[in-house]
Amino acid sequence: MKERLKDLEKGLIGELALVDNKKDLESFKVKALGRKSELQQIMKSIGSLGPEEKRETGILVNGLKSGLQKKIDDLESRLNEQEKQRSISAESVDVSLPGRHIRLGALHPVTIVLDRVRDIFRPLGYDVVTGPEIEHDFYNFEALNIPPEHPARDMQDTFYIHDSVVLRTHTSPIQIRTMLKAKPPVRILAPGRVYRSDYDISHTPMFHQVEGLFVDRGVRFSDLKGTLLYFARNMFGEETNIRLRPSYFPFTEPSAEVDVTCVMCRGKGCRLCKDTGWIEILGCGMVHPNVFGHVGYPDDITGFAFGMGIERIAMLKYRISDLRMFFENDVRFLEQFI
Ligand SMILES: [Zn+2]
Repeated sequence: MKERLKDLEKGLIGELALVDNKKDLESFKVKALGRKSELQQIMKSIGSLGPEEKRETGILVNGLKSGLQKKIDDLESRLNEQEKQRSISAESVDVSLPGRHIRLGALHPVTIVLDRVRDIFRPLGYDVVTGPEIEHDFYNFEALNIPPEHPARDMQDTFYIHDSVVLRTHTSPIQIRTMLKAKPPVRILAPGRVYRSDYDISHTPMFHQVEGLFVDRGVRFSDLKGTLLYFARNMFGEETNIRLRPSYFPFTEPSAEVDVTCVMCRGKGCRLCKDTGWIEILGCGMVHPNVFGHVGYPDDITGFAFGMGIERIAMLKYRISDLRMFFENDVRFLEQFI
C-alpha cells in the first residue's frame, strides 16, 4: 500500500507540474481528488486493513492529500495572478502611439470680412451696435421714410410675421433705434443678419449686412466720399479707387451707388466687371430729412449712411462665384479661409 501511495504521489506531482492554465487545473483536481480518483479508491479500501496498517495508511493518505491540496492552491493563486497581469497589460494605453488628429476649425469668411470692416472703422470712432432680427414695421420701413403702400416695399421681398412685424430686410432699423436713444453726434457700425425671400446664385434668404451711420452738425457729402475711399483702400488695397453713381433709396437724399476698381483686372476690364473696370460694392447717401423727423433730430443736423452686403465683399475679396456656398457648411470650402 505504501508503495502504491508513493507511486500515486509521484505521478500526480509530475502531472501537476505540467499544468499551466486554469482549465487543466480543474481537470487535474477532478482526476486527483474527485470521487472516482485513485486516492478515493485507496481511502475506501482502508476499512479492510488491519488496525496498525489502517493507522499508517491513514496518516500517509492524509499527508498526501494535504500536500497535494497545498500545491494545487499555490498553483491556482499563481495562475490567477498571471491572468490578472495579462488583463492589465491588455487594457493599458500605449502612450507612444500617435494621438488622434483633431481638425482645427477656421473662421467663416463672413466673420473674417466683418472683423476687417470693424477694424477699418474703429480708428474713425465708429461703435458697433446690434439690433433685433425680428423687427417692427416702424423701424424697418416707416421711420426710414418707407410708408405703407410705398413702392420701395416691393424692392425688398419681405418675410412678414404678421401685418406689422417682419424679419428685418436690412440693418437700417438699427439707425433708427440708435438715433431715438442718442443725441448727435452718432457714429455707428451696425452689422447683422437680414432676410429676404429670394434664392439664386447671388441671393439667399438670409445674408449679412453692415451699415454705417455718421450724424452730426455739418456732415457733408464729401465726408461720405472720403470715408468710403478710406474704406475701399483698406479693404481692397491702396490702388483702389471709387466711383459714385446717382441712385435712389427712400431713406437717403441724395443717394448713390458706389463702385470700386475691379478686384480682378484692376480697372482694365474683364468678365467679372463686364469690361467696365468697376465693381459695385455698396449703397449710400445723405440721411433723408424725413428720417431725422421720425427720430426728433433738429433741422441743422446732417449725416450720411452707407450699407453693404458682407457676403458680396467676401465674394470679391476671395473670388467666390456662388453666394450659396457661404451657407452650405462644406468644410472643404470653409477651411480655405484662414
Ligand atoms: Zn474687371
